[in-house]
Amino acid sequence: MNSKLPHIKTNIFTKMSKLASDYNAINLSQGFPNFPIDDNLVDVLKEKSNKNIHQYMPMSGDPELLYKISALIKSTYKRTVNPETEVLITAGATQGIFTTILALINKNEEVIILDPSYDCYEPAVSLAGGKAKRLPLNDDFSPNWELIKKSINHSTRMLIINSPHNPSGRIWEEQDILCLEKLMMKNPNLLLLSDEVYEHITYDKKHISINTISSIINRSIIISSFGKTFHVTGWKVGYLVGPKTLIEEIKKVHQFNVFSVNSVAQASINSYVDLFNFSSIKPFFKKKRDLFQNLMKKSNFKLLPCEGTYFQLVDYSNISSLNDIKFCEKLTIDYGVAAIPISVFNESNNDNKIIRFCFAKDDETLINATNLLCKI
Ligand code: PMP
Ligand code: GLN
Repeated sequence: MNSKLPHIKTNIFTKMSKLASDYNAINLSQGFPNFPIDDNLVDVLKEKSNKNIHQYMPMSGDPELLYKISALIKSTYKRTVNPETEVLITAGATQGIFTTILALINKNEEVIILDPSYDCYEPAVSLAGGKAKRLPLNDDFSPNWELIKKSINHSTRMLIINSPHNPSGRIWEEQDILCLEKLMMKNPNLLLLSDEVYEHITYDKKHISINTISSIINRSIIISSFGKTFHVTGWKVGYLVGPKTLIEEIKKVHQFNVFSVNSVAQASINSYVDLFNFSSIKPFFKKKRDLFQNLMKKSNFKLLPCEGTYFQLVDYSNISSLNDIKFCEKLTIDYGVAAIPISVFNESNNDNKIIRFCFAKDDETLINATNLLCKI
């Protein structure tokens, strides 16, 4: 078998969640909420499932939901987008990212990815026949603009950015956005893929969406996920926003790799958008972040800043000299709490003795997990 992805193994989220389940450990590894979803969403789902909406939706998505998304973008970011030509509903952000890369990247074109990076970017570039150029972020997870500038050549076609950032929880500063704008101006053929799935999960700093940067939106695809925003990661519904010319190309691929997204989920989300208070997400997750951070203060782990997302990075160098993969295995098997090692998100697999915990969990789970972690 001549593998198309010879270096790719089963991904870390699948691996750690399975290990957590095999050893009955508390699973703070893979990022998903463990608390029940809003009763209103359950009611909407029940109501919709009794309606005649069980057949294919239009290829781009439920027309009503496309309009709701464009209204949401208008109210959140003051950007006007045409729901028919500039929005595409996808089977989660993952399919949106994959389809965008497959549609827009040609053979041998380079795509810049900033490490530590979310795991689905590079395989999509490889399968498209492109070349991923993975560049490290600075130690504080800010972009290294000098390095990015130096790395652009005539084959560079796309830059992928992700803020609020998984795994670090860092949010880009205004200064970073200014540097990005400058870079895009200097390189008129460069496309931007902005992964903003945690756009609403921010704490101390404001998220600056690319939706608000008018100088570059005509070359940018922005990715969002209802899975994160509505606590329904298993529903796999996300969407892309971009200029008509790029969305048209993306739709050519979308119609063959998914055609259209789950109809009942789209119809339910369409109704729920009207019931949901988007500004409630920040205080909801801030309470969880603060609880987790306070409980962890008594531990021997060193907490890194968390400005957004529902992930907390910790440094365990005071506890163990094992590499982060081995440490996460030991933590799961011997101490009963599963986490994600950060080295797997770096091309170099650099081990800095940092691991990631997901705090999108009910309080009891966070208390039980931190009780175990504080004994180490
Ligand atoms: N991008 C980032 C940064 C993510 O963390 C995730 C999932 N956690 C995704 C994309 C994929 O989102 P979805 O589950 O909607 O496919
Ligand atoms: N994005 C989730 C995380 O970072 C995992 C999604 C997945 O399992 N593919 O934990």
